[in-house]
Amino acid sequence: MNYLSTRGDATPRQFCDILLEGLAPDGGLYLPERYPQLTSAELARLRGVWRQQGYAALAFEILSLYIDDIPAADLRAICDKTYTQQVFGTAAITPLKKLSNGFYLEALSNGPTLAFKDMAMQLLGHLFEYELKRRGQQLNILGATSGDTGSAAEYAMRGKQGIRVFMLSPHGRMSAFQQAQMFSLQDDNIHNIAIEGVFDDCQDIVKAVSGDLTFKRQHQIGTVNSINWARLLAQVVYYFAGYFQATQSDDEPVDFTVPSGNFGNVCAGHVARMMGLPIGQLVVATNENDVLDEFFRTGRYRVRSSADTFETSSPSMDISKASNFERFVADVLGRDGARVQALFADALARDGEFSLPAELQAWRDHGQAWASGKSTHADRLATIRDVYEQHGVMIDTHTADGVKVARQHQRPGAPMIVLETALPIKFAATIREALGREPERPAGLEGIEDLPRRVQVLPADAAQVKALIARHCA
Ligand SMILES: *Cc1c(COP(=O)(O)O)cnc(C)c1O
Repeated sequence: MNYLSTRGDATPRQFCDILLEGLAPDGGLYLPERYPQLTSAELARLRGVWRQQGYAALAFEILSLYIDDIPAADLRAICDKTYTQQVFGTAAITPLKKLSNGFYLEALSNGPTLAFKDMAMQLLGHLFEYELKRRGQQLNILGATSGDTGSAAEYAMRGKQGIRVFMLSPHGRMSAFQQAQMFSLQDDNIHNIAIEGVFDDCQDIVKAVSGDLTFKRQHQIGTVNSINWARLLAQVVYYFAGYFQATQSDDEPVDFTVPSGNFGNVCAGHVARMMGLPIGQLVVATNENDVLDEFFRTGRYRVRSSADTFETSSPSMDISKASNFERFVADVLGRDGARVQALFADALARDGEFSLPAELQAWRDHGQAWASGKSTHADRLATIRDVYEQHGVMIDTHTADGVKVARQHQRPGAPMIVLETALPIKFAATIREALGREPERPAGLEGIEDLPRRVQVLPADAAQVKALIARHCA
């Protein structure tokens, strides 16, 4: 399988060429040149593999369709190491929880950091270690986080050969639980750096360090951002696992609702449907930051400024610009690289928006159903309360946005699966506000706030961050 840029650069690349890269050289995102098409016989075979051998075997089957440059036995070993009961809490890895007839939650947040990003990041850790070893290279991952992504990256890369992580976070601004999760890691290759500033200061430092090309090359600086194709591919697998659990055979359509921010999670659902998985509708749920809801209602994509980006109680969805959205638009435009370039490089830079109502309608008419909705803080509280009272299940704020929007789009006879993207313990303040009680704490995490911490506080100064990296790489 070759990978091409959404903006038209057609230099063919293999999976491992793009694994350690960010954007394509022309500023686009990588996509496979085509989506493998599954016949109904192949879909039935995958269901059998999943039923008899489990999630890791299913992951291997799907990844194999997109990866030619890792020997099958090695890829199988990587999948088997990644998707274990020990790491993800259950043998099913992503079990469905039934809330009512035909309405399910798919549990994606039982990994080490209790958010769905572990599903992809854990795989990425093993893939990176494998490929760096094969090349005899080292990688220093530099990132900025306000919570979920940074901790998922650290738990995926801890103890991995050839990899160090330097993770910047705004000093004193993450939740107590998130700080405890990250700072309690004692691994030598994980470096927590608390910056005296806000999240934007952290991001500016990452940009400044990565923008110094000499320093970047000399110290093998890389990232693990959400546009990485391997992350997206890992997420395709749980749409299949969810589908198989909700159905008996492969001719029933199933709808999915996905709490969305950077469009990575739901884009994986789009890929699964393009491969032939019978997904009826994909429903995009947003919070008050409704860039994506606006697009799917009107065809107008209008990015927001940071001043117009709200801080909400589902903070992992507080985005103003959906970094993976370009992949979907490239498919809607029939992979016309020049048009994608004109929209994402030119129109967005000039006007901050573009409109594609006719193209979106044509896409829907083509059997690709999309729906969307938004949820507010008040909706979130009401949904958390309602699901707890009616079903005895405590859900987090992001999943609550999903449930609220899913209920508006459920169709008679079609199962609806809402992707559960985090556990409530990560967002305790809102749970207390909704339920007047403390969130449930998974076993093994009692007292995590009292563990010794490994973190250095630095001023918001790129030079000092560079000096720290150089010291550790010497
Ligand atoms: C990252 C995240 C999201 C948004 O996922 P995208 O792939 O960016 O759309 C939703 N919920 C939680 C808890 C997250 O961590």
